Amino acid sequence: MSNQSLKHLSDQHILPTYGRFPIAFVRGEGCRLWDADGKEYIDFTSGIGVTSIGHAHPAWVAAIADQAAKLAHVSNLYYTEPGAKLAQRLCALADGMRGVFFSNSGAEANEGLIKVARKYSRDKYGEGRATIITLEGSFHGRTISTLAATGQEKFHQHFFPFTPGFKHVAPGDLAALEAQGDDVCALMLEPIQGEGGVMPLDADYVRAAAEICMKSDWLLLMDEVQTGIGRTGKWFGYQHFNILPDALSFAKGIAGGLPLGGFMVGEKLATTLGPGDHATTYGGNPICAAAALAVLDVVEDALPQVTEMGEYIRTQIQAMNASCIAQIRGRGLMIGAKIQGHAPGEINAKLLEAGLAALTAGTDILRILPPLTIEKKDIDAGLKIMHNVLSTYFAK
Ligand SMILES: *Cc1c(COP(=O)(O)O)cnc(C)c1O
Repeated sequence: MSNQSLKHLSDQHILPTYGRFPIAFVRGEGCRLWDADGKEYIDFTSGIGVTSIGHAHPAWVAAIADQAAKLAHVSNLYYTEPGAKLAQRLCALADGMRGVFFSNSGAEANEGLIKVARKYSRDKYGEGRATIITLEGSFHGRTISTLAATGQEKFHQHFFPFTPGFKHVAPGDLAALEAQGDDVCALMLEPIQGEGGVMPLDADYVRAAAEICMKSDWLLLMDEVQTGIGRTGKWFGYQHFNILPDALSFAKGIAGGLPLGGFMVGEKLATTLGPGDHATTYGGNPICAAAALAVLDVVEDALPQVTEMGEYIRTQIQAMNASCIAQIRGRGLMIGAKIQGHAPGEINAKLLEAGLAALTAGTDILRILPPLTIEKKDIDAGLKIMHNVLSTYFAK
């Protein structure tokens, strides 16, 4: 089937909740994608930070095929080896976190953070201390509660009533944190706001906020759904700040393209949840967990180059001297270019037409999230397309 016929068929039967490009991808390999008409693209999206080791990595394919042939699913009534090994590995990577709960998505992982924080507070202090503070510009997911947690007004439409008990404060505003009352149980942060516009939090702010949390016995929750699993050059984004959160969520990049997420808790929350308190049917199923173990092996080898390649990309984009780029920011391979004078979506559409898949974020950001394994030659091929498009169509 062609791009056009796949678009037509999809538009007839899939609800139009996504704005989509008129392209259907049929195959990927490493950092390359091919559409239904046979055209090749460089992938600077990783499927929004998901295919962190590129497409069809042989070790990942083998891990999934082997596990599928052995055991795909038994439910969480039983133990399985991939889940056990993955949890052990993740706890070690997150500075000795005490336990993992596996979910299927980022929003579901954050729901877990919200639940564990509220239960901790209720067990210890009783009712009336359930408020979770999040930041303006944040994004935490699409369920009713994680939408309520999300600090962007445009997400608070249509779906009333939203879950109560969330307050949004401006990033960097320590006074706003200090001024909170005694109804608060937790502060939830993305180390770099992703969907909000690739906005890194200031390290001094995060450290001071962590101190306020400690002083007030608020739980510090890190939403690492986009920043986790090597994206920023460390295993988790919080590790750039020299702090230890009480709990963190992960998803997107963990299983290289299969649906897996989860949250981890440290000492304080290690015994908050017991049997029956939380559950999900698929969470940590053996195929997703086996895929994730393969991803962690590959990311471990790629990690040193994530910082280096990220710096290279940022320097190269800066050197394009494109008048439409006002600023370039981010960390590791989570990069945002602030666009002026044009809509980032317009630039992104032209890039795709020219064979480069990229992303947008916030209102004025062109975002790139290349696979963590991307090689310099693929980066150069992608940047060349970007340079051509910017100088041809967006020079003024
Ligand atoms: C993508 C994202 C989510 C939501 O994840 P889903 O898997 O789409 O539910 C939550 N938080 C952050 C920071 C994200 O980037």
